Amino acid sequence: MHRTFDVVIVGGGIAGLTAALYLARGGKRVAVLESQQRMGGRAITNQKEGVRFNLGSHALYEGDARRVFQELGLNPDLFRKVDEFKPFGIWKEQVHLFPASMSFLLKSSMLTISEKVMFAGLLMRILKMDVEAIPRISLRAWMEQNVRSPMLRHMLYVMARGGTYVQAPDLQEAGPLFRQMQRSIAGVYYVKRGWGALIEHLCEEAQRLGVALLTGRKVTAVGHEDGCVRHILCADGETIEAAYVILATPPGIARNLVPNSDATSLKTWDEQAIPVTAACLDIGLRRLPVPDRQFVYGIDQPIMMVNASRIHGLDMSDDGDVQVFQMIKFQNQDGDAGEDRRQLEAALDLIHPGWKREVVTEQYLPRMTVVHDFMHLKRKQNLGPAVPEIKGLYVAGDWATHGEYLVNGAAASAKRAAEHILAQ
Ligand SMILES: Cc1cc2nc3c(=O)[nH]c(=O)nc-3n(C[C@H](O)[C@H](O)[C@H](O)COP(=O)(O)OP(=O)(O)OC[C@H]3O[C@@H](n4cnc5c(N)ncnc54)[C@H](O)[C@@H]3O)c2cc1C
Repeated sequence: MHRTFDVVIVGGGIAGLTAALYLARGGKRVAVLESQQRMGGRAITNQKEGVRFNLGSHALYEGDARRVFQELGLNPDLFRKVDEFKPFGIWKEQVHLFPASMSFLLKSSMLTISEKVMFAGLLMRILKMDVEAIPRISLRAWMEQNVRSPMLRHMLYVMARGGTYVQAPDLQEAGPLFRQMQRSIAGVYYVKRGWGALIEHLCEEAQRLGVALLTGRKVTAVGHEDGCVRHILCADGETIEAAYVILATPPGIARNLVPNSDATSLKTWDEQAIPVTAACLDIGLRRLPVPDRQFVYGIDQPIMMVNASRIHGLDMSDDGDVQVFQMIKFQNQDGDAGEDRRQLEAALDLIHPGWKREVVTEQYLPRMTVVHDFMHLKRKQNLGPAVPEIKGLYVAGDWATHGEYLVNGAAASAKRAAEHILAQ
């Protein structure tokens, strides 16, 4: 069989599906090829014993992704803004009210009065900051130059990793991080029932627009000749012709799919990528031992606890009564899955004593790649959308960021690739 499309997209995660929608709306004949048996990539929701588990907590920060989903006409009812919640923090083996916003700042016992005044000033300063004007320095260097109180530094580090999943203050670039913090202060949205519901909507819309959504189709190579893309090859032997190909896969896979890629920018982009990983322990509980402890940040340890049922809606379980909890350990380069799990369980003992008696079911993912790259000081260049050495070849995905974080990077890079193709 020999098929032809205008554009073939390799990878059916949020980036691949987003690019497909823009291109189909622009009149292109598009196919999305996904190696797994279902679309979604890292944005899937798994069911276990009537309980729905996302891969990690899925907060949609104000910015590119929300704008993209609006432009693509997704039903706004899919998203919910969670009203202010009461956050807690673990500090020296005790649970305190965490001053994440002005109202909790006044009530928190963690800071002195003068620290509260300074922290309020810092949050206002971050909110109004011209992030483009910040020189290319690390988060730690910025903290050392601008924040004298060690406790306030702790607080800002907590907010920084909570909004980006990155636990690398010596590498993380300050400017893009503060833009992400501005976005998280401006508004955090959650998808009702989680990313899985978002994927269903993107797929329905793609089908309505005539996009060919092909699952279980592993791409093994992108054929190019005379500096132009010609076709892709699938593991089952099929060749699909296309003048444009978007690689919406991780950077290492993108590099491996293209013959002689070491002579292209794909090599640099892959080599400069530093993945961000997390250990995720998700637990369905019959009831919460301490009902108001729904969001807890580790202050002196890199962890976070989120009640997914509170943010994504109660239909995270079939009977609606089970509370789904996510415990996240933000990892750096070295990690020990067993140790990470022990740390998460010990924190849960502190937050919700007796939780083990309430467990309905659980899922432990010891090392999930949250994003394949982020804005760090070792990045030599922003990448894409076009691979400059091969006409018709593009990249998209959370790693193809031009400063955006997480799903904002996946959606923004997909839009860049699609617009570039539509402008040809
Ligand atoms: C634990 C966790 C928590 C997170 N929390 C948040 C959050 O709170 N907020 C937020 O904004 N983001 C969050 N994210 C990040 C977000 O989920 C990702 O940025 C996003 O889903 C990435 O989408 P993508 O399309 O770039 O990549 P992916 O979803 O990885 O899609 C790539 C696809 O390519 C396919 N593929 C690979 N090779 C081939 C091949 N040879 N042929 C065909 N297909 C192939 C893969 O199967 C995959 O489906 C989180 C992620 C995790 C894991």
